[in-house]
Amino acid sequence: MPRPPNPHAKTKRLVLEGTIEEESVRIRAFKKICVADGLQMKKELLDLLDFWLKKHNWPPGNPQTLLHSFGVQTKITQQCQYPNCEEIATHECIPNSPYAQKKVFYCQKHHDHAKESRLLKASKRL
Ligand SMILES: [Zn+2]
Repeated sequence: MPRPPNPHAKTKRLVLEGTIEEESVRIRAFKKICVADGLQMKKELLDLLDFWLKKHNWPPGNPQTLLHSFGVQTKITQQCQYPNCEEIATHECIPNSPYAQKKVFYCQKHHDHAKESRLLKASKRL
């Protein structure tokens, strides 16, 4: 079992060792591509670390930073599920039928139509 990392250790090294063949293949491929493209492995790994640290909000660490700042898509872009409609859905709806318990996504027009026809148990805007 690998030793847990010690963030207070004096060494600045990060040792990456493939313990199974699949990991070793990936590490070798990484090295080969770096050599072929004239890239520095250290720089490539540090760039990946920057991305990872940003994703984990470190540093300076702002818990109020919105996820979309990191390129994470928070809003669902779903197509309307009404037959032959190609609009982007604006509402997530629960049909008013004991047989259909799944959520469906409707555009504004089909949401309004379903609501007027009392076909929806509940709906919320996306
Ligand atoms: Zn629609």
